[in-house]
Amino acid sequence: MKKYQKPIIITFTIIFIIIVMVVSFLAYTQNLIRQSILTNLGEITKQDAEKLENKIQEHKRILETIANEVKEKAKNEQEIFDIYNRNSGNEEFSRIAILYKNGTTITSDGKIVDLSEEVNQFFSVEEIQISKNRISKVDNEEINIYSKKILFQNEEVVILLVIDNDKYKNLFTQNIFYGEGIECIITNTGEIIANSKNEENNTNIFQDLKNINEKEFNKVDEIQSEILENQEGQIYYKIQEKNYYISYKKLSIEEWRLIIIIPENIIAKNLNQLLEAIIIVSIIVIIITLLVTIYILLSNIKKKEKLYKLAYIDPITGLGNYNDFLRRIEEKIEDDSNKMIIILDIDKFKTFNKKYGHIKGNELLKRVGEETKKIVRKTDIVCRLGNDVFGIFLDGEVDVKKITNRLNKNITKIQIEDKWYNIHISIGIYVYHSKEKDIQGIIDKAIIAHDSVKGKYNEKYGVYTDKFEQQLSRESEIENMMEDAIKNKEFEVYYQPQISTKTQKIEGAEALVRWNKDGKVISPGEFIPIFEKNGFIINLDKYIFEKACENIREMKKEFKEIPKISVNISKESLVNNNFLIEYEEIMKKYNVMSEEIEFEITERTTVSNDIDIKNVLNEIKKKGFCIAIDDFGTGYSSLNMLETLPIDTLKIDKSFIDKINIKEDNTSLIEAIMFISQKLHLKTVAEGVETIEQVNYLKKWNCDLIQGYVYSKPLRFEELKERLRNGSMLS
Ligand code: C2E
Ligand code: CA
Ligand code: CA
Repeated sequence: MKKYQKPIIITFTIIFIIIVMVVSFLAYTQNLIRQSILTNLGEITKQDAEKLENKIQEHKRILETIANEVKEKAKNEQEIFDIYNRNSGNEEFSRIAILYKNGTTITSDGKIVDLSEEVNQFFSVEEIQISKNRISKVDNEEINIYSKKILFQNEEVVILLVIDNDKYKNLFTQNIFYGEGIECIITNTGEIIANSKNEENNTNIFQDLKNINEKEFNKVDEIQSEILENQEGQIYYKIQEKNYYISYKKLSIEEWRLIIIIPENIIAKNLNQLLEAIIIVSIIVIIITLLVTIYILLSNIKKKEKLYKLAYIDPITGLGNYNDFLRRIEEKIEDDSNKMIIILDIDKFKTFNKKYGHIKGNELLKRVGEETKKIVRKTDIVCRLGNDVFGIFLDGEVDVKKITNRLNKNITKIQIEDKWYNIHISIGIYVYHSKEKDIQGIIDKAIIAHDSVKGKYNEKYGVYTDKFEQQLSRESEIENMMEDAIKNKEFEVYYQPQISTKTQKIEGAEALVRWNKDGKVISPGEFIPIFEKNGFIINLDKYIFEKACENIREMKKEFKEIPKISVNISKESLVNNNFLIEYEEIMKKYNVMSEEIEFEITERTTVSNDIDIKNVLNEIKKKGFCIAIDDFGTGYSSLNMLETLPIDTLKIDKSFIDKINIKEDNTSLIEAIMFISQKLHLKTVAEGVETIEQVNYLKKWNCDLIQGYVYSKPLRFEELKERLRNGSMLS
């Protein structure tokens, strides 16, 4: 879920930005539209005002002309009506009327009405007056009256030019905003002269507005004063949640105003359509953006996953790699429970690869990975750290015995395509408390535990303890000292005599190294494995060999017959190509013959697959050296192998000799070894013989030589010579 967090944030941010943009765009558009509506209204108002002014001016002119002519020529009422008929032109006035001081009014269409109530009003003004709209007493039509006082036959009368109120309305822009808007002419008090809408009771526009919006008198007053104070203008007003567009212009007549009022909801119909379109487009844009962002983000995630795979996934097993192992442990290391790291590798994987090919090798790795995953829990981590090494991280309390048993049980027989392969694994374990945060250090400790059992068939797993730490520091201490040890001649050769069961004489002696460090002797058991690991053993073997050769030369000077000297040669020395050349050079230097030397090679070396052991031994044999198999019985060599290798001697390991005194039954292995030895015409040497019982037993089974404390511990060269002078070991 974590990996989607960022993309989701980005997507929502983008959507948010789009929404903000759309909303601002809408607000902007709305504002723009309002502005343009107001400008438009202003334009309409101006045009209509002009039309009205022109029309009224014309009406006034006509009345003026009629009035003048009446003054000059008219003798009776009929002549006034004739003048009217002549001058009214195209204008469709309703009628003309003559108002006498007593209120009697004679109309051109032959009616007589009484206007006595208004007489004063009509007679009080000299100029042409225009009435507000009123109801005609002649035909009940809505009319306006242009009136002018004149002298007619020396009597003051008022000529009334009557016009249908609709004549004004016809001048208004028709169908303004779908006929929903109101256009009207008002007086400076708001009284309506003409209204595009024939609404009943609309006599004062401001009063009407107040009637509709009872709670907002103030607002109406504001509008009123704005309209009355200015020449012209446009207002956008909100009254009681209703918006109005108002445009007004002062007319040049009678302080009148032309007003257009449009409620916004009418325009909104249109505006809403536009907004809807914008919103739909925006939604489409949002969806497209969303899809595009999602696509981009998903492909980014895929790219990232690909990169992640390259960086963290092992392509062969599909498990995480070393970096992944570190990374995931780091994530888990925070909580306080106990944890376990297991380092597991396949013994002799190189050989498997050589024997069955890389494809099978890879398949084996994959299968081991799969089997391992089956054993652990889902929350545990299994990674391939490199080559044939797997790392397992287990969270919480885990039973070491249980898990190693299961690993060993499940990963011994692996099936690859119908075929089963036997393999052996080495397991190193480090159990730690999560207070330890140094991941590399944690893994290293598991590796150390692993190395401690690597290649040891009888040890199924190693668990790291603090002893390892001491061992390691001892190891590095030894490594620091070893170079100087040769220079300082700290290595000394001891000889352990090998006594013939037939002659009781010293027929052989094994050269064994001793390290004298400042008066203390370091056991070869401690430093030889270290030297074997770091390769220094090659130098040591050579050094000991040279010392042995030097001692042989010395012995030959004193004794007619000298024992054959056995020299231990490690695998590392044998692998070295220059081995024989260098050793022969040394022999030449001390004038030593190859018959005087026997090389001891451990049985484990002979079964190692790292070198073509048969070839090397054949070379040695050809030069005339004898070859002994050391620690025989512990290294799992086959009978077939013994037959084909050019060997002379079997050295029965001490562990078999130890069994002799315990129980007769346990000796059957020795008997088998003696049997094989005799069959293959090999000499047998029993190592580590400590009791006379053992000697007697070995004699019985025709063992050739006895080497052990029963006769002698390894001796200084001087001591050995002393023994040789005495002749017999039984003294
Ligand atoms: P190894 O070749 O099996 O040597 C025999 C070991 O058994 C010697 O231990 C010897 O002191 C000991 N031993 C002999 N008789 C008895 C006995 O009756 N009882 C007991 N308990 N032990 C007995 P050491 O000298 O400590 O050597 C240990 C190992 O070190 C040797 O085992 C050999 O593998 C290696 N080593 C010694 N010197 C050299 C050397 O110069 N080169 C190489 N490559 N390895 C050497
Ligand atoms: Ca030996
Ligand atoms: Ca041995």
